[in-house]
Amino acid sequence: MAGFKTLDDAGDVTGKVALVRVDLNLPMDGGRVTDDTRVRASAPTILELSRKGAKVLLLAHFGRPKGQRSSTQSLSMVIDAVQDVLGKEVMFVPEVSGPVVEQAVGILRNGDIAILENTRFWPGEEANDPEFAKSIAANGDLFVNDAFSAAHRAHATTEGLTHLLPSYAGRSMQAELEALEKALGNPEKPVAAVVGGAKVSSKLAVLKHLVGKVDHLIIGGGMANTFLAARGVDVGKSLCEHELASTCEEILDAADTSGCTVHLPYDVVVAKEFAANPPSMRICNVHEVATDEMILDVGPQAVEALADVLKTCRTLVWNGPLGAFETPPFDAATVALAKTAAALSKEGSLVSVAGGGDTVAALNHAGAAADFTYISTAGGAFLEWMEGRVLPGVAALEA
Ligand code: ADP
Ligand code: MG
Repeated sequence: MAGFKTLDDAGDVTGKVALVRVDLNLPMDGGRVTDDTRVRASAPTILELSRKGAKVLLLAHFGRPKGQRSSTQSLSMVIDAVQDVLGKEVMFVPEVSGPVVEQAVGILRNGDIAILENTRFWPGEEANDPEFAKSIAANGDLFVNDAFSAAHRAHATTEGLTHLLPSYAGRSMQAELEALEKALGNPEKPVAAVVGGAKVSSKLAVLKHLVGKVDHLIIGGGMANTFLAARGVDVGKSLCEHELASTCEEILDAADTSGCTVHLPYDVVVAKEFAANPPSMRICNVHEVATDEMILDVGPQAVEALADVLKTCRTLVWNGPLGAFETPPFDAATVALAKTAAALSKEGSLVSVAGGGDTVAALNHAGAAADFTYISTAGGAFLEWMEGRVLPGVAALEA
């Protein structure tokens, strides 16, 4: 991608009103925030603008209120969590535009921070209504987007505002874009991709894009079963999308044409029932799976070979676990390969970028996340990036 504007390009922001799009879609339980990771991700941007003397107005969506006010989805519920992370008092403003926001801006001193109400209370947000965007922009001098996780959506506060105000990537957005650029935009070769998870159907576009981009495509998880079946392997009662056989063939052909080596497991961990440590569990060659067995993980020999592949690579992008990692011992392949990738990254021989809800959970479970070069917590936006799509919220920030 082309370069994009960051806070370094914003000049002197003293006394200016910065509208900052952040991700405050926080997991809650009983009215309390249970995980403040997303707030911590944007804290550097918010505090930098505050320190530089801007008046900071935070914009975010929360849940799916479908264009209506909803007392259970008000952003007032996250104020305490945000104050705790920032270590500063934060004002709550129950509107996103109009005189109430204007008044709030009048009260704020330079460096003060306010959260505006859930942008999705207004239908203009998801409709990307230019009039709605204009009403928000009326109270701001600049726009900062620090929510990569929402950048795959062309909404008023992810895309619309960029046409109305000077716009910049926040520090978290910047880190995400730089990491993804290193992983897939302009990577050091050879490049490996791990694509795992449950279903081929949910990641078709990812697979199609990657075969033209990477040198090694490592397929694991339930989707490996679909590829094995397409190659004539009897996968028993494994999770498998038989109807996608011809699509898998096409992907394998495309890989051949572009010089991408596809790695499918040749040994697997199978069981007759899906439970923790089932007595029927065994390791076998993919050609020895019985009709009443299912494949639940990549086998140890294949994992060793995959580790050797990673040792020859300079870049790794990873989405999707290699097995049903939530249930032991079907986490073994994912844990082993994650540890290899983490060790190579720590040594400095591999740039490793991973993303996806279950992937991040699996890498945390493996104790490998901290040594990866970059972990993206943006589920949908990360996958769209892996599909090679231009994200509207990102395109709008290009310099
Ligand atoms: P992500 O959220 O990282 O994009 P997915 O949602 O695509 O990942 O896939 C994760 C799910 O895939 C996990 O719940 C895991 O249990 C499941 N899975 C992986 N391998 C298998 C398998 N062999 N059989 C059934 N489910 C599997
Ligand atoms: Mg998932």
